[in-house]
Amino acid sequence: MKAINETISFIKEQYNTENFIPLHVPHFGGNEKKYLLETIDSTFVSSVGAYVDQFEMMMQNITGTKKAVAVVNGTAAIQVSLRLIGVKAGDEVLTQALTFVATANAIAYQNATPVFLDVDLDTMGLSPDAVALFLQEFGDLREDGCYNKKTGKRISACLPMHTFGFPVHLDELIEICNSWKIPVLEDAAESLGSKYKGKPTGSFGKLSAFSFNGNKIVTCGGGGAIVTNDSELGEKGKYLTTTAKIPHLYEYVHDEMGYNFRMPNLNAALACAQLEQLDDFLTNKRRLATEYKSFFASNGIKFRTETPNTEANYWLMCVELENKIERDLFLKSTNENSVMTRPIWQLMYRLPMYVDCQRDRQINAEFLEERIVNIPSSVR
Ligand SMILES: *Cc1c(COP(=O)(O)O)cnc(C)c1O
Repeated sequence: MKAINETISFIKEQYNTENFIPLHVPHFGGNEKKYLLETIDSTFVSSVGAYVDQFEMMMQNITGTKKAVAVVNGTAAIQVSLRLIGVKAGDEVLTQALTFVATANAIAYQNATPVFLDVDLDTMGLSPDAVALFLQEFGDLREDGCYNKKTGKRISACLPMHTFGFPVHLDELIEICNSWKIPVLEDAAESLGSKYKGKPTGSFGKLSAFSFNGNKIVTCGGGGAIVTNDSELGEKGKYLTTTAKIPHLYEYVHDEMGYNFRMPNLNAALACAQLEQLDDFLTNKRRLATEYKSFFASNGIKFRTETPNTEANYWLMCVELENKIERDLFLKSTNENSVMTRPIWQLMYRLPMYVDCQRDRQINAEFLEERIVNIPSSVR
């Protein structure tokens, strides 16, 4: 494939270096140091502090939701969201096999089982059609929710993931799930700043989870957030993630099995400084996406772009190669030439702990699994 060398040169030009170009590195260009030093001076480096509160406020504003809860990482945010919506041991959760392992793990932490359904080719996220087909065949709608005819288990949530920041078809998905009494939770770990029909991802689900891990568009070292428009669920989330302690002047009273999933104030300080720059990051990444788009268009490689009615954050940008052979060639040449590229994840049912999970035919997921490659996407 002749465009590979051109691609390597183009990426080196974009980042203006001959050195190794990673897939995604953090960009600290704002108040990071100032806020971090403030936490140290204040001694509030741990589980409570002004930056934790400020971070939660900022997340509410950015996502347009009523309540945000700062937590220790994105995986914990998904796990607690599942518990809050009522996913119990022995239940099933509909999700996609084309995702990062944390999505499936969070379901398993609740002692529930993932059911893997196909993604759409355009969004690379959970397909409303696949969900509808599955429920037509296996759904059993009862007074207290939807059950799976094959397993007899309750399907207590649907967990779509906005792959690389490209929003799934939310309206269609939510409509189908509503008609089957299945609450939708968004794994928005990758889509901070992305919009669907003008509204932020994360504001559509009953609850949504974000991640602030080192490789995400905004990082605080490690961290996560739950957001929701249901204030009561939000309060419950804060309570559960802070050891389920009943407020008392001096006594320790805990009336549920809670978690220590708090985000330290130290990390929250970093998060606040980073969130202040989110709009700049988005502009910067969208500009790079435009450059990539026109470059790849004239070089015969398919660059993945946002779908109609959505605005992607272009967290990790990607190309879709012709087939697995072309993909492997692309991966090899770029990585050998200091340009980091990575294939999309292995589908979840290939992993030993999830091989036995129920799934549909996965036509689109397997197509994408063989072809999608992430390319350097850092803020420049
Ligand atoms: C990063 C990520 C998570 C988990 O976030 P952590 O903060 O690393 O725990 C969950 N789901 C998806 C899709 C992710 O990309």
